[in-house]
Amino acid sequence: MQFHENGFVAGDPERSQAARNMGEQPDTLPKRADVLIVGCGPAGLTLATQLSAFADISTVIVDKKQGPMTFGQADGIACRTMEMFEAFSFSEKILKESYWVNETTFWRPDSKQPAHIVRSDRMQDTEDGLSEFPHVILSQARVHDRYLEKMAQNAYPIHPFYARNLKTLTIDRALASQLERYPVRAEFEVTDAEGNIRVEVIEARFAVGCDGAHSAVRAQLGYQLEGDSVNSAWGVMDVLAVTDFPDIRMKSAIHSAEEGSMLIIPREGGHMVRLYIEIAKLRENERLAREEITLEHLIAAAQRIIHPYQIEVKDTVWWSVYQIGQRVCASFDDLPEHRSSDAFPRVFIAGDACHTHSPKAGQGMNVSMADAFNLGWKMAAVINQQSSPALLHSYSQERHAVAYELIEFDKQIAKLFSSRNSTQNDIKDSAENNSIAEAFQQYFQKHARYTAGVETRYEAGLLTQINASQALATGFPEGMRFHSAPAIRLADAKPVHLGHCIKADGRWRLFAFARPIADHQDRLGGISALCQFLETDEASPVVKYSPSDKPADYLFDLRVIFQESFREVELEIMPEFLMPRQGSLGLKDYEKIFCADKRPDENVFDMRGIDRQTGCIVIVRPDQYVATILPLEDIHGLAAYFDRFMPIE
Ligand SMILES: Cc1cc2nc3c(=O)[nH]c(=O)nc-3n(C[C@H](O)[C@H](O)[C@H](O)COP(=O)(O)OP(=O)(O)OC[C@H]3O[C@@H](n4cnc5c(N)ncnc54)[C@H](O)[C@@H]3O)c2cc1C
Repeated sequence: MQFHENGFVAGDPERSQAARNMGEQPDTLPKRADVLIVGCGPAGLTLATQLSAFADISTVIVDKKQGPMTFGQADGIACRTMEMFEAFSFSEKILKESYWVNETTFWRPDSKQPAHIVRSDRMQDTEDGLSEFPHVILSQARVHDRYLEKMAQNAYPIHPFYARNLKTLTIDRALASQLERYPVRAEFEVTDAEGNIRVEVIEARFAVGCDGAHSAVRAQLGYQLEGDSVNSAWGVMDVLAVTDFPDIRMKSAIHSAEEGSMLIIPREGGHMVRLYIEIAKLRENERLAREEITLEHLIAAAQRIIHPYQIEVKDTVWWSVYQIGQRVCASFDDLPEHRSSDAFPRVFIAGDACHTHSPKAGQGMNVSMADAFNLGWKMAAVINQQSSPALLHSYSQERHAVAYELIEFDKQIAKLFSSRNSTQNDIKDSAENNSIAEAFQQYFQKHARYTAGVETRYEAGLLTQINASQALATGFPEGMRFHSAPAIRLADAKPVHLGHCIKADGRWRLFAFARPIADHQDRLGGISALCQFLETDEASPVVKYSPSDKPADYLFDLRVIFQESFREVELEIMPEFLMPRQGSLGLKDYEKIFCADKRPDENVFDMRGIDRQTGCIVIVRPDQYVATILPLEDIHGLAAYFDRFMPIE
């Protein structure tokens, strides 16, 4: 992070001047906003935090709850989500507070005494090298806190409006094709501290329904979630307990012979633990309607499943019966069918509002945040007139495919988890039991990458260009998230992760991997020609699309990586384009040039299969996905890529 570019400022450098100057939040909604977000869950807060990075975009976020969440709901944070948190600059806080899932254990009935469970296997949770971040567990409420903190500090500081229940949302189609108009009108019912109800109305250019599985925005669009309405019900409880079960501080999947299955998720703080118990697995005479299930039922079930071990619950922090089907909405925006070239969406839905699935794979919160991260930068680019509104179509296209894939994955894992959902009478054969547990274990291992969130791949389309140059950087698959790798920053010899340069600021990153410097007459491995093109050529995206009153790296942030050691590369011969002047004092930016880390297993050229002779450019989207790979000298290909969606008619 760089700061003091406009002169020294005391205090927290993360806090923008706008946040310092901000007065009290008004107690009524503004009349208008560029973006209205309904719902302060993980999806809404991700979107609001992303949009708060843009000083010129006014965003309002609203929730029907009285205030921020304090406990409950989801808790699993995938490696990929941690990478996104790094873009929002709060990954370290999450790392510090959370439980780290390093090992998963599997328990099944003892073949000699089926009423007893035994540990059948254990495995490393996340394979080495999958991400620089671990898989962690932390209360959803604490994740919300980080977002709330960040969005209040950013360039357009945002504080949510609570106690507002969306009643109606309409789109004036006559205005919808003109970008600068406010065609969305939303009406909220507001309940004050005395219980009085009033109505507030807001107009917006865009609105996003992040309002959960029972989304009012989705209902206003006339859409429904399609699929199984209820697949299974899970009892979930966060407890403080005393037990002799040895793996209580490990993530553990337990299949008992006759008492059902349980998932143990250790939680932050060293004592709390989450227990998931599939309701259908309760004893036959206890298979009750959801409303009749009590905390006592769940505790009793946990005690039976864990036999011969004991568990004594001392305190229950939160519990719920979480009943959910595997369902998805046909479209994630308001233009389901007639996508003419000049029509663009005005209303979107994200997160549980457009897809729901069981908690078994721990994906609900992660995928919801990923939806919003996909959408936020696109909305900002269109509102700031840096990209054609056609860009907005790609949200539904890309995220719908991801949701379908997730539902399929969830169905398979749910089937395995519940494959003994029949009556107690047929739960007798321990051999059968063991093979189900084994199948679950194998499936779990095979799909660990998927649950880590790193398997998402956007198909070839407007933003993903799959081409022959993939061979130049085999470890950066086109359409997948930029798999970060270490490098040494030239100016100060600091080891840094390249992926951590990609902040949630809406900018495109161009990672240029140089050819050997000795082979090239400029002693810069082909980087001089690239810089010259970007800075001066009329076909350059920097020249064509960057606003003239903004710094050259305002939209396109070029980062260069040399394959030589930082001791062999000279800073003084670097083009000025790589050390642009910043802020009112015209200070130099020293953070764009890197060298390979020469320590064994740390060299990005080896780790990511970079062709050392050809070099390459890796174009990375603002949401950290690899858009395409090009040979280092393919400046026309570089220009053509951005010409696909940046020109505004
Ligand atoms: C009770 C419950 C228990 C859960 N338990 C688990 C679990 O154990 N494990 C797991 O992995 N996942 C669990 N989940 C799912 C997980 O929390 C979600 O997948 C995730 O929160 C989805 O995020 P979201 O932002 O899309 O929606 P949500 O987190 O549901 O957020 C939606 C927000 O919109 C607000 N809202 C809704 N309607 C309106 C309206 N008309 N006007 C204004 N605001 C509105 C809501 O108050 C809420 O704050 C649970 C969800 C719920 C609701």
